[in-house]
Amino acid sequence: MRYFDLHCDTLSVCEEQGCSLRENRLQLSLARGEAYRPWFQCFAVWIPDEWDAVRAWERFERISQTLPLETAFCRTREDLLRTEAAGGCGAILTVEGGAVLGGSLERIPLLAQRGVRALTLTWNGSNAIGDGALVEHPRGLTAFGREAVLLLEKNGVAVDVSHAGEPLFWDVAELARRPLLATHSNARAVCGHPRNLTDAQFCAIRDSGGLVGLNFYPLFLRDGGKAARADILRHAEHFLALGGAQTLAIGSDFDGAQMPPDLPGVQAVSDLAEDFLRHGYPEELTGSIFYGNARRFFENLLATQKEEI
Ligand SMILES: [Zn+2]
Repeated sequence: MRYFDLHCDTLSVCEEQGCSLRENRLQLSLARGEAYRPWFQCFAVWIPDEWDAVRAWERFERISQTLPLETAFCRTREDLLRTEAAGGCGAILTVEGGAVLGGSLERIPLLAQRGVRALTLTWNGSNAIGDGALVEHPRGLTAFGREAVLLLEKNGVAVDVSHAGEPLFWDVAELARRPLLATHSNARAVCGHPRNLTDAQFCAIRDSGGLVGLNFYPLFLRDGGKAARADILRHAEHFLALGGAQTLAIGSDFDGAQMPPDLPGVQAVSDLAEDFLRHGYPEELTGSIFYGNARRFFENLLATQKEEI
């Protein structure tokens, strides 16, 4: 099957634990994902909100350099099309945490040059851009954050609002000119966690032509956290009822969170896709959620990047 995942933390965890991306005992390995052809995986470099400029950049550089050569590093539309045609594994580099900027706009074109194609503005706390979902009295975009969002868009880096607090989300929604992206967030109407999206937020992303990736973390799937694969369908059902057939995608959060017992790792994503088919979703819709919607979004995004000579 074809598979496109908007978020995992495996690259950061491999670097920290000194294990290989190809063969490991984590939730995601290249070896266990290669049954998906093609398989596009967004690999996030996680930067804690409170880290200073020097430490944050050093961590970004160290981890981003560990992407193995056996993945096709997708920086341009041509990279994506070539990988798709070959049925290979395409890696898309993202950063989770605007602290990577260290309060400096000059880092945005640098990140774009290094191949970063999405930036999650905050983690759960506060940084120079604004406040995340677990901040008690969250602010929206700072003056720096407003400039950063516009410059990210100009440099072809998608603005990821997963983890954003509500004021930050709405400031971005108002300011952004390009489609919004929530790489790994579920429906708050189904599970009341503040990391999940309200219906109004989902509809704003839908109307922008953006994407929402379904997150497999049990605490975001069911109140109380005792969740299984079937709960992912409840979130999909809810978003689809809001007209999300072209908005919905997958954002597993592999190696950034615990997983439901019946979805222990990347190898079980095909079981989840079968659940969708058995539930009665047509093949075309299931294919859009697991692949097509994200592929369309990234084809458009990467088309803004020039082929390197
Ligand atoms: Zn996250």
